[in-house]
Amino acid sequence: MLNNYIKYLELLNHKLNKFFEQQKPYIFCQKGCAKCCQNGEYPFTEIEFQLLKLGFAKLPQDLQQKISDNIFAIKAQKAKSNEKVFVYECPFLINNECSVYLYRGIICRTFGLMSAIEGNRPKIPFCSREGLNYSNVLNKETDVISSELYKKLNLDVEPVAYNIDYEFLTSENIERIYGFKFGDKKALIDWC
Ligand code: SF4
Repeated sequence: MLNNYIKYLELLNHKLNKFFEQQKPYIFCQKGCAKCCQNGEYPFTEIEFQLLKLGFAKLPQDLQQKISDNIFAIKAQKAKSNEKVFVYECPFLINNECSVYLYRGIICRTFGLMSAIEGNRPKIPFCSREGLNYSNVLNKETDVISSELYKKLNLDVEPVAYNIDYEFLTSENIERIYGFKFGDKKALIDWC
């Protein structure tokens, strides 16, 4: 089952790399920028967490200890929080880098691209409002992608929203095609 999930991830990675490459003029991700991992809920399915655990098991003992300490601290904060949606810095983020990069979840892989959601406006990465991805075409007043700004840039490639919504990428349809089950879905911290 895990092997089929890994095969799916390989294909997904291939697609996402292509999308990032296509959207290069709008992508300002840099090594050491970990904004995506500092303030989120990080939905994970059971199979995604299984793979993440394999990555964790391969880490040196001291790093595992740091992550366990992070998990302990986040869980303590969560227990005290009254927020409906509890957001936190991912416990696997160490020195602003993902310690389990090859084993990270699907949501982590799609961070930074614009996502198309049926019947809604495209979902623009939050870092756009902080001067990063798609900020060169973002109308800050209306919070939508501006065709005026795009025209001014005189670029061949348009800013595009892809069909990479988490619900779509972890749907039953994907399970059927690739022959595995995602299992339950919850915030990453609740799996730890
Ligand atoms: S698993 Fe890695 S990529 Fe995903 S949120 Fe955590 S640190 Fe970021």
